[in-house]
Amino acid sequence: MDLNLKIYNTLTKQTDLFKPLHEGHVGMYVCGPTVYSNAHLGNARTFVSFDIMFRYFLHLGLKVRYVRNITDAGHLESDADEGEDKIAKKAKLEQIEPMEIVQRYTVDFHTIMQQFNTLPPSIEPTATGHIIEQIEMTKQILENGYAYESNGTIYFDVEKFTKEYNYTELSNRNLEELLNNTRDLDGQNDKRGRLDFALWIKAKPEHLMKWPSPWGDGFPGWHIECSAMSSKYLGEQFDIHGGGMDLIPTHHTNEIAQNLACHHKSPARYWIHTNMLTVNGQKMSKSLGNSFLPDELFSGNHKLLDKGYSPMTVRFFMLQAHYRSTLDFSNEALQAAEKGFQRLMNAIKLIPNLKTSEKSSIQLADVTKSIYDALNDDFNTPIALAQLFEMVRNINLINDGKESISVDDKLALEKLAKEIVFDVLGLKDEKNADDNKIDGLMQLILQQRSDAKVRKDYAASDAIRDHLKSIGIEVKDGKDGATYSVNSW
Ligand code: AMP
Ligand code: ZN
Repeated sequence: MDLNLKIYNTLTKQTDLFKPLHEGHVGMYVCGPTVYSNAHLGNARTFVSFDIMFRYFLHLGLKVRYVRNITDAGHLESDADEGEDKIAKKAKLEQIEPMEIVQRYTVDFHTIMQQFNTLPPSIEPTATGHIIEQIEMTKQILENGYAYESNGTIYFDVEKFTKEYNYTELSNRNLEELLNNTRDLDGQNDKRGRLDFALWIKAKPEHLMKWPSPWGDGFPGWHIECSAMSSKYLGEQFDIHGGGMDLIPTHHTNEIAQNLACHHKSPARYWIHTNMLTVNGQKMSKSLGNSFLPDELFSGNHKLLDKGYSPMTVRFFMLQAHYRSTLDFSNEALQAAEKGFQRLMNAIKLIPNLKTSEKSSIQLADVTKSIYDALNDDFNTPIALAQLFEMVRNINLINDGKESISVDDKLALEKLAKEIVFDVLGLKDEKNADDNKIDGLMQLILQQRSDAKVRKDYAASDAIRDHLKSIGIEVKDGKDGATYSVNSW
């Protein structure tokens, strides 16, 4: 198969032609959520971005094994092995079992992923289900001489590692500077070096999530789970490893170090990192208090929102930015996305009824090629969408009798819309048959209201608007006419 896909690779700092290790197959590992609280919209953005990549690989006919883990143990409050285990802390706060926390937020995460129409990964392994593999890997790293035990905790020896390997290859950070910027060990820590990190952590007696190990009861460090699970399901070397950009300096840097120290092989050939969803320029994060839950966005029940937006409007909004650019959240951008998404869906619905002619006056092949060129250029969804709107323009012109389409082109247009919009971009029409009837009725009512305005019968036009509002339908007047929204997401 001739693949012409280019991917920006954080490891090489350039856009590389994608060549799978095994022809026709792709192995992809993406760091999944830590299930200690509801996933926010920023988390969702990252997983929607990888969903597009997964879908595009499938569309290209590749056989994909997509592994996305669930972190249900070992993620401490600070990435530098400090603070409490996030899940244990939440369990204590709510006075329930840690595994109840894990269950609750795993279910919540799956619901959100379904609302955004993301495909489930091929394997979704959990850290607690792979304790043995993590202990085995820790043992091997110890045996290879890149780790040491200190009071029941096993630390990775970064200084030793840097003698043979480039610890900062992924992050491109200056090792000297890193050493200087990391604060001094305060004597309370058992680490030898400032950059050393825990592979296995000794559990305090009151700690609930702990397992027996050759070093006593404890629990795995956060980074080792991804090394152990990716090696188990994708092999010591595989094609793609992904996650949010915030994972580059610590989590992913340490994962590479662990794999090299254990297998003497760097795990992934292409590292893909998604940029952050921001609110007024600041990363959306729970700790900054600026995060939205997807449900708040769907219902409009949040102080920063004018109204609710449907899951597909939000997915469309996410696709309007390239995955490596930040995406800033705003009401205006969501309103524009809502309009754009509806325009796209309305045009696609027109295709089956387009009248055909002997010849096409539109250049469908050019639009199709531009869409594939965009997707092949590091999954450039904003350019692919812009090209799809060229298709929308053509559909509307054909529908108005201003352009013509042949039978063959009409079939190709239907296929293009189905494959790119639904299969690859993962959008779907959210309206069912009843919604379409409501839509038809609403157009009739809005037309009556507009006619009343032309007659200067403002009492009638206001009465229509007020009555609609009382039953939860909001009418908004804009320069292109009136639009409506039903407040019931
Ligand atoms: P966590 O549950 O914190 O381990 O995060 C799960 C994933 O979401 C990771 O890949 C993070 O990099 C990513 N992530 C966290 N915050 C954001 C954000 N504001 N925008 C995009 N991705 C994010
Ligand atoms: Zn990970």
